[in-house]
Order: sequence, then structure tokens, then C-alpha cells
Amino acid sequence: MRMLALSLLKNTHEQNPMKEIKNANTRCGAKTRNGSACAKFPVAGKKRCRNHGGLSSGPKSAAGRARIGAAQLKHGKFVNWRQQREREKLYFSKIRRVLNEAEEAGLMPP
Ligand SMILES: [Zn+2]
Repeated sequence: MRMLALSLLKNTHEQNPMKEIKNANTRCGAKTRNGSACAKFPVAGKKRCRNHGGLSSGPKSAAGRARIGAAQLKHGKFVNWRQQREREKLYFSKIRRVLNEAEEAGLMPP
């Protein structure tokens, strides 16, 4: 019976994506006008309820994305993080190769 109820809930969600999915662990949590956290359930697949941006599909234009990105930037410490990490991996592999060559040549202490 419980499985049937869950499958019915899933079906209603698939038919109507605007419908809120009841998940006991997640709440919207946006700051409300009286200062407390919003207790409504988020829109399915989103983190916020329909009143707090859950229906938004995000910025579409390049200017809009740039504006949101600028608003989200805190310190820039992780800007281009992936490129930096790839460069680090390349350097580490080179260091490893040199160390292995030195070990094979008997230049490293045991
Ligand atoms: Zn909310």
C-alpha cells in the first residue's frame, strides 16, 4: 500500500512538475519577511519552494549569467580552479617521473 502511494506521488509529479514533492528531509529554508526560514517543501528537483525562486529556470542571456556570477563571487580563490588543478597534476607527474628516473639511476638514498 505504501509503495502504491509513493508511485502515485511520483506519477502526479511527472504529470505536473509544478506540484510540490513532500520530502521529509528538505525544506525551502529561504529567509521570509518575518526573518524565519521558509518551511514549505521545495519544487521537485529544486532547492526552493515556488514562492522563493523554485520555478525560476535561471539566467538565460550571457549578460544575465555574468551578472549572477558576479553576485555569487566571494573572493575569487576558486576561479579557474579546474585549469589550475590540471596544471598541478602535470607538474606532479613530471616531478614523479624525475624522482623515478633518479631512483632507477641509483641517485636516491634508500
Ligand atoms: Zn520558500
